[in-house]
Amino acid sequence: MAKPAILLVDDDPDVLRAIERDVRRHFGGTYRVLRASSGAQALDILTQLALRHEPVALLLTDQRMPEMDGVEFLEQAKELSPQAKRALLTAYADTDAAIRAINSVGIDYYLVKPWDPPEEQLYPVLQDLLDDWLADFNPPFEGLRLIGHRWSAMAHELKDFLTRNLIPYQWLDVETHTEALRLLELANLDASHLPVVLLPDGTSLSQPTPAQLAETLGLRIHADLSFYDLIIVGSGPSGLAGAVYGASEGLRTMLIEREAPGGQAGTSSRIENYLGFPSGLSGADLARRAVTQARRFGVELLTPQEVTSVRVDGPYRFVTLADGSELSCSALLIATGVSYRKLDIPGLERLTGSGVYYGAAMTEALSCRDSDVFVVGGANSAGQAAMYFSRYARTVTMLVRGDSLAKSMSQYLIDQIQQTGNITVQTCTSVVEVHGESNLETITLANTQTGERQTLPTSALFIFIGAMPRTEWLADFVLRDEQGFLLTGPDLDRDGKRPSGWKLQRAPFLLETNVPGIFAAGDVRHGSVKRVASGVGEGAVAIQFIHRYLSEVR
Ligand SMILES: Cc1cc2nc3c(=O)[nH]c(=O)nc-3n(C[C@H](O)[C@H](O)[C@H](O)COP(=O)(O)OP(=O)(O)OC[C@H]3O[C@@H](n4cnc5c(N)ncnc54)[C@H](O)[C@@H]3O)c2cc1C
Repeated sequence: MAKPAILLVDDDPDVLRAIERDVRRHFGGTYRVLRASSGAQALDILTQLALRHEPVALLLTDQRMPEMDGVEFLEQAKELSPQAKRALLTAYADTDAAIRAINSVGIDYYLVKPWDPPEEQLYPVLQDLLDDWLADFNPPFEGLRLIGHRWSAMAHELKDFLTRNLIPYQWLDVETHTEALRLLELANLDASHLPVVLLPDGTSLSQPTPAQLAETLGLRIHADLSFYDLIIVGSGPSGLAGAVYGASEGLRTMLIEREAPGGQAGTSSRIENYLGFPSGLSGADLARRAVTQARRFGVELLTPQEVTSVRVDGPYRFVTLADGSELSCSALLIATGVSYRKLDIPGLERLTGSGVYYGAAMTEALSCRDSDVFVVGGANSAGQAAMYFSRYARTVTMLVRGDSLAKSMSQYLIDQIQQTGNITVQTCTSVVEVHGESNLETITLANTQTGERQTLPTSALFIFIGAMPRTEWLADFVLRDEQGFLLTGPDLDRDGKRPSGWKLQRAPFLLETNVPGIFAAGDVRHGSVKRVASGVGEGAVAIQFIHRYLSEVR
């Protein structure tokens, strides 16, 4: 395969020569650096590359050019190289145009001239864009293949596991991919073995659990040590932030994750309000970056591995894992977030995974191409999912119990939804039944005001109806509120009294539970804000209190 291209565009020959020299010096080994002196010439080059199926990774163009300015060029270039990352090179005076272009044309970044020293002003930014491009780039397929039925709940579980753990794979539906049957035959398998994972070395796994697949793929599910300074349960934004701060400040840190790093945020198709990412970022990107950062500081990550119980013995805190093994630590941070609330209506449980899904927008969107999709829920997560599906599905109908989105959704999302032609919002509506033999075929809706019912055909229903903490495993040990959220710091105070069993002179620290040395951060905590940034903040703050706790017991 040809090296991916970076195309530089500027009408000023001196600037073009300078940027080419710098970009070539740093990226020339991996990328082909091409240049053009006008938007028109650059479009010709992109046409040639597209005809030869040669990948284009990055377009970097000056904004001020005669005839066609940078934004216009990037807009037209999108047709020819839809996957390429697009950045503007602007003078300081043009930054307003660049910011407008982020919103209107969706450029990925703008750089301000001059870019000296390139080691600080140019390379890190371009490297980041190229890493993002590479993460989504699909070269001719040589990796793992998953063969199964579209409506199989087990196949869905494996797809979800692979997608959320950022493991590239090719999905082959036995009913639509003729290659699937040929590959099964070559592996001496038949439909009774589905779902089947074909590994790049030619071996196969029939009906594996995510944990078996993880072990085969070399994901870590067993710890190196039996004792850590800090164990963190849950690797959503708060757990990952705790891990990065803990390990970077010298704590031997273990992070344990039941499903996939990123938590709820990892399932988001676009987070637009996280500071520092003006054009938004996907949850998968956020998770990938945070895991890389945590690993760089030496954090050990076990996934998929579930913590099932906790106990205390003197200064040590112990966690039991789903495989029965036990790990100990000096301090424990619980960052287990929340999980989607289940919808309790006839037919739903049987069809979950076979047309009915909780979350899973990223995993199933492609299978919904040209279908009529229904999304239940009226909060941001449902809105983001609807926007994401609108790119693939023929129509997306949002089913909202309340009489408007305004009470539960951010205005920027409401605006986006209103401007998207194939999304309809049906308010005052609940799903009351789902029907289908082996997969979802119809849903029955009821008007919450009139009670009027209607049954509609669909094969895809996605549910985003709020979330609850799953903290039963901590019951009777760590104090929780009526809904299961963990009580910390001042929330433990009962009429001016310390929690029962609390023996220390001091009050519990801000994010400490009723058990000294066991902390909680993020969505799982009573009264938390339930945003990515606040989870990250709490994860970081918890580490400060953990240091204070450790200084008392060591
Ligand atoms: C679809 C969607 C879109 C969203 N979009 C935005 C947005 O745009 N902006 C924003 O600010 N917020 C957004 N949010 C909210 C945001 O994602 C959450 O507030 C944030 O992820 C909470 O982080 P957390 O680390 O506390 O918990 P979580 O993200 O819930 O992570 C907890 C992790 O703990 C793991 N876990 C649970 N129990 C165990 C156990 N016993 N053993 C091991 N692991 C366990 C879970 O598998 C999970 O990975 C969105 C949420 C969703 C669902």
